[in-house]
This record gives sequence, C-alpha cells and structure tokens, in this order.
Amino acid sequence: MLLTMIVPCYNEQEALPLFYAESVKVVNDIGCDYEYIFINDGSGDDTFAVMKQLAAQDEHVTYLSFSRNFGKEAAMYAGFCNAHGDYVAVMDADMQDPPALLPQMVEILMNGEYDSVATRRTNRTGESPVRSWFARRFYQLINRISDADIVDGARDFRLMKREMVEAIVEMSEYNRFSKGIFGWLGFRTYWLSYENVERVAGKTKWSFWGLMKYAIDGIINFSQAPLSIALWGGMLMTLVAFFMLLVIVVRRMAFGDPVAGWASTVCVIIFIGGIQLFCLGIMGQYIAKTYMETKHRPHFIIAETNRNGVQKIK
Ligand code: UDP
Ligand code: MG
Repeated sequence: MLLTMIVPCYNEQEALPLFYAESVKVVNDIGCDYEYIFINDGSGDDTFAVMKQLAAQDEHVTYLSFSRNFGKEAAMYAGFCNAHGDYVAVMDADMQDPPALLPQMVEILMNGEYDSVATRRTNRTGESPVRSWFARRFYQLINRISDADIVDGARDFRLMKREMVEAIVEMSEYNRFSKGIFGWLGFRTYWLSYENVERVAGKTKWSFWGLMKYAIDGIINFSQAPLSIALWGGMLMTLVAFFMLLVIVVRRMAFGDPVAGWASTVCVIIFIGGIQLFCLGIMGQYIAKTYMETKHRPHFIIAETNRNGVQKIK
C-alpha cells in the first residue's frame, strides 16, 4: 500500500521541517510505503530551499514548485493530479492537521467500510469570536441553500482512496472550493473529530476579508439560491407596487386627494434602485465566474520539480 501526502506550502520555512520530522515518524510506524508531494505555492521565503534539502535526504519526497502563488486550492489540485498512492492525504504544513491522526485514518480505510476519512475540529480556540460567529453562519447558510453537504468545522485534512482522487481530478472546474467538491462527490465518509491545534510556526494566510470572500465564493460556486433572491424579490415588489397603485387610484376617484409626499417617493425610488443594483451585482458574480470558466486557463503552472513525468500545467 502506497500512501501519498499532499502538502501545500506557502511561506512555511519554519513549519515544514517540523512537519516532515513528525510525519515521517508516523508513517514509519504505520509501516507502509509513502510519498510526499510538497507544493511550493510561490513562497517568498526559503520554503523551496527547505523542500530541496528534504528531497536530497529522502527519495520519497517530490516537490512541485509553482511559477507564482496560485492559492491553496490550486496547490491541492496539483497534488491530486500527480499523486500515485492507493491512499492519498491532504495536509497543511503547519501541523494544524496532526500527522498523529494518520494511523487511525489508515486503519478506518483498511477496514473497507469507508472510502474517505474527513476531519473536523470540535472547537475554535485561538480564533477571534467575530470570526467564529461568521464561520458558523456561513456553514448554516451554505448547507441550507446548496446540495453540497459541508460540515461545520470541516478541515481540508482528509485521507481518500484512489477512486475518490480520480473523481476529484475529473472535477476540473476553475473556481475550486474543495470543501464543497468533497461533499458533492459523495463516497462513504467517516468523520473524525479532534480538538483544534494552533499552528506551530509562521502565521495564517487568511485575513478576515479573505475569509469573507472565500465564503461568498463557496456559496456562489455551489448554489444558485442567490439568483432566486432577485427573481422572488422582484416578483414580490411588483405585486406590492401594483396594490399600492390600486389604492392611490381608488383614493383619487373616491376622495379626490392630491398625492402628497415628495420625500417618501424619493426614498422608495432609492430603495428600489438599491435592490436592483444588488440583484445585478449577484448576477454579475455568476457571470464573472462563468467568464473565468470559459477561458479554460490552467489551474497551476509548475516551474520546477525533481520528478519526470509530472503534469506541469493543468
Ligand atoms: N497555503 C498555500 N497557498 C496559499 C495559502 C496557504 O499553499 O496561498 C497553504 C499553507 O502553507 C498551509 C495551508 O495552505 O499549509 C493552510 O494555510 P493556513 O494555515 O494559512 O490556513 P488556516 O489553517 O489558518 O486555515
Ligand atoms: Mg493553518
């Protein structure tokens, strides 16, 4: 049995050696054959040098170095496209996905009842309350409006059988949201819970607004519900306006009242204008995504690697 570990790295020069040392111990304990795929996602520090050094001392290490920063989703995709393992794991380099969980995950897959072991953290220690609150709302919302089943606290840390990896590679959409893709694919998945671990070194690449954008992208990638807002909202407003018109006409006929209220008219116009722009904005988001998909640009470009036969552009 060959175990592949896909590790996206962006500015992880301190964390990566620690991750390697810990995880290599764990896989040696499992006693299976293994391969590392380290992806250097355009790091600005010495991450790539660290990878080369690890590759020099361990022949199980493959590195794929991107031509620039393409993001974690692209890095994971490059890993999936080039993984050879019967079992494939995706892991962060910062030890927030504890390698110590691997033996248990491998065992669960070996028993044959499941195709994939996913992980979720049970708490959010070390995270700001505001961020946690928004994260919770996001999971509630996306589960209500999309058919991808996304678990609160789910991490990208996963062990999968080959069949699932092949399915992921087939899903070659440009706008990738892995949590959604994993859920959409199905497969029998075992959920493993663990206490949140803080990163060993370096700092997170996520700003609050970065996460917000990621959440909105996730919703747009996996749900058409926001488009319905425009449709139903528009219909409702037309109906309301129609009744208001009736009231005004009847009032004019019966009482001869001149219509008063310049200010309220302006308010209504601005209000409706705002809603129209909002709906246009929603549509614009979908059109922008469609535009990017139709360009068929590659997800990643590998500038340097230590292996032959690597898929360098996809
Ligand atoms: N990462 C990456 N490319 C990026 C951003 C992050 O490959 O553009 C990697 C990063 O090196 C780490 C993993 O993705 O291994 C998770 O990143 P981070 O720890 O910043 O996210 P968090 O754990 O805070 O969600
Ligand atoms: Mg992290």
